[in-house]
Amino acid sequence: MRALCLLAIVLSVSFAQTRSVTDAESDVKKAERIHRSMLLIDTHNDITSRTVDGYDIGKSKNDGHTNVTSLKEGGVGAQFFAVYVSSSYVKDNRSAHRTLEMIDTVRHGIVERYPNDFTLATTADDIERIHKQGKIAALMGIEGGHAIEDNLGLLRDYFDLGIRYMTLTHTNTNNWADSSGDVNKAGVQHHNGLTPFGKQVVREMNRLGMMIDISHTADKTFWDALAESRAPIIASHSSCRALCNVPRNMTDDMIAALAKKGGVIQINFNCGFLSEKSAAAGKNVQDSTLPGAAGEDATIAEYRKKVPPATLEDVVAHIDHAVKIGGIDAVGIGSDFDGVFCTPLGLEDVSKFPNLTRALLEKGYSEEAIRKIYGGNTLRLMRAVEAEAKHEQAN
Ligand SMILES: [Zn+2]
Repeated sequence: MRALCLLAIVLSVSFAQTRSVTDAESDVKKAERIHRSMLLIDTHNDITSRTVDGYDIGKSKNDGHTNVTSLKEGGVGAQFFAVYVSSSYVKDNRSAHRTLEMIDTVRHGIVERYPNDFTLATTADDIERIHKQGKIAALMGIEGGHAIEDNLGLLRDYFDLGIRYMTLTHTNTNNWADSSGDVNKAGVQHHNGLTPFGKQVVREMNRLGMMIDISHTADKTFWDALAESRAPIIASHSSCRALCNVPRNMTDDMIAALAKKGGVIQINFNCGFLSEKSAAAGKNVQDSTLPGAAGEDATIAEYRKKVPPATLEDVVAHIDHAVKIGGIDAVGIGSDFDGVFCTPLGLEDVSKFPNLTRALLEKGYSEEAIRKIYGGNTLRLMRAVEAEAKHEQAN
């Protein structure tokens, strides 16, 4: 009898365990199915800072965050590749040269090299068409307004080559816009936001149909750009300052104002922008926020030793906060993969996006809401920017 009781207990325990495992598996499968049905648009990836030096994005096992196999595993439908121009090119007037090299690495080093996996896209319609064909839409955004060398003609040339957004600054204040990276640094010539020429840049971007990107800009530059632009604007890779108080993130007031004009904040996965613990520890490592630093192995090693990583839950918290402040139509994804030293536990590289879908479903987000965050909002914003350009060019 006692043996039977024991057997019953063992059986019931094992049944309970089996059932819970089965439930968990079906949740995973459901999340996976939902994830595969999404059009996921990531508005910022810096693998280009490596492909420009010959790095092969088609190599499936590598030490970075991004490669073709991982992009497919992660279900990425459209990728904005960063045409990142370091401020170091300003000194000798080499910014335009570098911009063209970076554009070439996307067009030639990625898309032309892997035509079965990527197709170059420049419009929202392109993204949807390419996604339906089962390929990854490749788009380009310039990182660093100094890329135009204070010349609207170059801005137009970049648009013609396929550039569809430009961050008005990188970590450096340029001749026409203040950056969050040096806004409090003595000795830097500041402008209190945008200069009159900076406002012309914004208006020319409107006329062309290029998205105005305020990631990296000083707060005043954001407010000036928002006031000047006749189309909605984006933050291609920024998170929430209310949860992680760093100048690269957006305040609640900024998120609300951006949203009111139809804009989108694309949440950045950099540990130091997600978690104040990571941000504080990161301050002890030199140059820890520079993208394209993949070659600086010693700094990376030091960073990983000293900085506790953020987590998938932190990413969900930033998305949730931005949705609470700006609404469900104002939030997207701008991972910054391969542009940062530290990525969150559970979201280590582009292959891990399905984990985010699972976490958002667990948080109570509907399929429809996630669809907006993953791509719907960005497509809507792109169409608004395209419509404004069409309208302005017709008049
Ligand atoms: Zn950046």
